[in-house]
Amino acid sequence: MEKVYDLHIHYTFDIPLKETVEIFKEEFEKTDTEKYCFLSIPYELHGKEVSLEDMQNLKALYLKKAFSPNAYAFAGLEYNSEDLCTLADEFLVQAKEYFSVGYDGIKMLEGYPSLLKARKIPLDHIVYDKFFAFMEQSGYPIIMHMANPKENWDISTASEDAIKLGRVYDSSYPTKEEITNQVFNVMQKFPKLKLILAHFGFFSYDISDAERFLSYPNTAFDITPGGEQLINMSKEWDKWLPFWKKYQDRIFYGTDFYAFPKGDMWEISFNRRPKFVRQFLETNQSHEYLGEQFNGVLLDEKLREKIYRQNFLNLLGKPKQIDISYMIDKAKRLALKSEHKSRYAKEDADFIINNLKD
Ligand SMILES: [Zn+2]
Repeated sequence: MEKVYDLHIHYTFDIPLKETVEIFKEEFEKTDTEKYCFLSIPYELHGKEVSLEDMQNLKALYLKKAFSPNAYAFAGLEYNSEDLCTLADEFLVQAKEYFSVGYDGIKMLEGYPSLLKARKIPLDHIVYDKFFAFMEQSGYPIIMHMANPKENWDISTASEDAIKLGRVYDSSYPTKEEITNQVFNVMQKFPKLKLILAHFGFFSYDISDAERFLSYPNTAFDITPGGEQLINMSKEWDKWLPFWKKYQDRIFYGTDFYAFPKGDMWEISFNRRPKFVRQFLETNQSHEYLGEQFNGVLLDEKLREKIYRQNFLNLLGKPKQIDISYMIDKAKRLALKSEHKSRYAKEDADFIINNLKD
């Protein structure tokens, strides 16, 4: 099998870090995934409550270290103040810190509808301006989740899964159009920003939005499944194939890969998305994904080479060097905190300290 470099990997299941590394090792081998980009998601939404998972950022760096030299890490911004002016300065400080200690970019889940609703901070708010300006100037990449599939804004078109997971959006949420406009406003302000929209920006409905987004010089998409963008595109492939050819240097392989808990569903769970993407790009046959029939588009091998590997290397180059003493300090500080969201936070912090000292 062709090797793939996955730009979009998470580790949010509550599994001890030591075990997470072991699981990833096996999963990567079984899926021919050879380079990895770990994306931190430091916030989760429970009802209306946005809660901090304070180990996420540090874990990204640890996973990067564990899979060195084939791994990369993206940090997430932490919201430690209610005051927007303080926050604006803090985001800049954080970005500079992440940049200097070995993260390779920033992951922003901020464009997720439920987070936008809970935080009431639109993506184009000035609170992010200093941060975006720094990111633009330093050429440090951002992978952003923007909106969700269009169907989710209408209960009659939302998928069963979306309904089950509470991802259906009524008028209390920003509309998909509003969220998309916020991103275009950001690009207007920071046209050279290296911004990668996950899940093809959920733009599979309208190629002109996708074109407009890529009219900026440093923007790109990852093809991580979600919604299902690839299947939508395959239905109008004569329109989309020229797009993929034209922008072949700006499309990244990604799958929302996770370290899944070991159990009966383990093999099915971690294989599901890589298998789907690869059946889609490597065959011209009919397959099924989450109950939906689709036809592979059998993309030219030269294009796959770019999407699977070359673009990833062009974007990230050599992994940034990790500052080990920063990691130890951070782990020590986190180990002292009395409350954590993750059950294994203390254990994980100790594990990191013990593995990195000497
Ligand atoms: Zn993701």
